[in-house]
Amino acid sequence: MAAMMQPQIILLKEGTDTSQGKAQLVSNINACTAVADVVRSTLGPRGMDKLIHDDKGTVTISNDGATIMKLLDIVHPAAKILVDIAKSQDSEVGDGTTTVVLLAAEFLREAKPFIEDGVHPQNLIRSFRNASYKAIQKVKELAKSIEGQSLEEKKRLLSKCAATTLSSKLIGGEKEFFASMVVDAVGAIGDGDRLNMIGIKKVPGGTMRDSFLVNGVAFKKTFSYAGFEQQPKKFLNPKILLLNIELELKSEKENAEIRLSDPSQYQSIVDAEWNIIYDKLDKCVQSGAKVVLSRLAIGDLATQYFADRDIFCAGRVAEEDLLRVAAATGGTVQTSVNNVVDEVLGTCEHFEERQVGNERFNIFSGCPSGRTATIVLRGGADQFIEEAERSLHDAIMIVRRATKNSTVVAGGGAIDMEISKYLRQESRAIAGKSQFFINSYAKALEVIPRQLCDNAGFDATDVLNKLRQKHALPTGEGAPYGVDINTGGIADSFANFVWEPAVVKINAINAATEAACLILSVDETVKNPKE
Ligand code: ADP
Ligand code: MG
Repeated sequence: MAAMMQPQIILLKEGTDTSQGKAQLVSNINACTAVADVVRSTLGPRGMDKLIHDDKGTVTISNDGATIMKLLDIVHPAAKILVDIAKSQDSEVGDGTTTVVLLAAEFLREAKPFIEDGVHPQNLIRSFRNASYKAIQKVKELAKSIEGQSLEEKKRLLSKCAATTLSSKLIGGEKEFFASMVVDAVGAIGDGDRLNMIGIKKVPGGTMRDSFLVNGVAFKKTFSYAGFEQQPKKFLNPKILLLNIELELKSEKENAEIRLSDPSQYQSIVDAEWNIIYDKLDKCVQSGAKVVLSRLAIGDLATQYFADRDIFCAGRVAEEDLLRVAAATGGTVQTSVNNVVDEVLGTCEHFEERQVGNERFNIFSGCPSGRTATIVLRGGADQFIEEAERSLHDAIMIVRRATKNSTVVAGGGAIDMEISKYLRQESRAIAGKSQFFINSYAKALEVIPRQLCDNAGFDATDVLNKLRQKHALPTGEGAPYGVDINTGGIADSFANFVWEPAVVKINAINAATEAACLILSVDETVKNPKE
């Protein structure tokens, strides 16, 4: 009776949805596995692409883990963590986004039977962190430096690295072509964080092979006014004037109210308007510039005026492009044409306006101060070029990383197998349950070579057995062996230039472990009711 009288304790608002304990953990793990299953098949050079279309009807075809995860619109709170690590991998190192998701999900999957058996998650977490620390030490140990090589040799090695990244993408068929382009582009911008100095311009049509690299800046001409045909389209060492003003005949009635008492005064107003624009144009010409660019419109009158004086002009240049021209040519963008001194003018060795596909391109090459590069991408459909751009971005990031850190490890699952073996060995020396946990962690790392095989249609069990045997060789000579994507056997990845920058792997292991531990440490989800 007394028990019935006890008041109920209400802690959370009515309608709050909570789930907790083991069941919650297992359900979170299942959600993460489901997410990984989506991107699973995109891994590696034989990976498939995903076509995603959203409610607005935008169609994206991509092989990039981060892009796919971003577009998936995942609602499950735990699975969202995987989206975040893919994103952070993308921004930190630029590649390995599918890898990081697969690893995290596999760690969790290995943890699941332990959780179900009642192992406390904190025990797992501790062992996983420990294993990840050891794994990263091992990656660092195995990494080989490409420093100290001649420039030519280094370039060759870097382009191999870029080719590995590109081989899994739509443009993989032309990987050598693009790889050397990427290496040249990165070489052109030099050190420093000036990634925006590599522009990528997309022009649909033509074939991939029509893509080209400009050692400088290139951009699409947006507008052509009458008179532009008569302008010269090529200059050597021109002075370049960059403006942020309109060069158009303006009817001043928009800016000011003018009251006339005598109709004969009307002409003087018109004259004044013409004088203003002619005065501006005159000053541009006097500056000695041969190329005039403006962020705002350059109208008919100005175009003709410049044409008559053998000057080239282009208006409505996108701000980003104008700034890149400024950085490259050493000019400064002017907001007035009064007092245009020589110092604010830019220059370059070669300027040209050229037809690319259906577009006219302004191309500035051989720029003095600016270390800039522009890749003009050609190819069939829009979606294709967009994916090509994303792939090039990956490759650019990789080459930059490799240039900066210049240590690489063997790809194709070789490094993963080697760490896996190493951790198994290490675990034997550990007493207690932790041995099992580290062993599971080691097993999870095999997901990479296994998935590479699955995606290529090989017998994963067979290949993995061969790899395990090779890596177990006491001499250590088997360490660089990974999946041979061409034959379905195993091959020395290092010798075949299937390389990955060490940072990509280190970051992936680190992020995947952290994500897995984060998810394992959650045992309750509370969902507040809608207000
Ligand atoms: P991610 O988004 O993780 O970078 P990718 O689809 O780019 O995924 O696949 C990367 C994986 O494919 C890496 O493990 C890399 O070692 C492997 N790989 C790339 N090229 C080859 C190749 N030619 N042979 C074998 N494995 C390769
Ligand atoms: Mg990749």
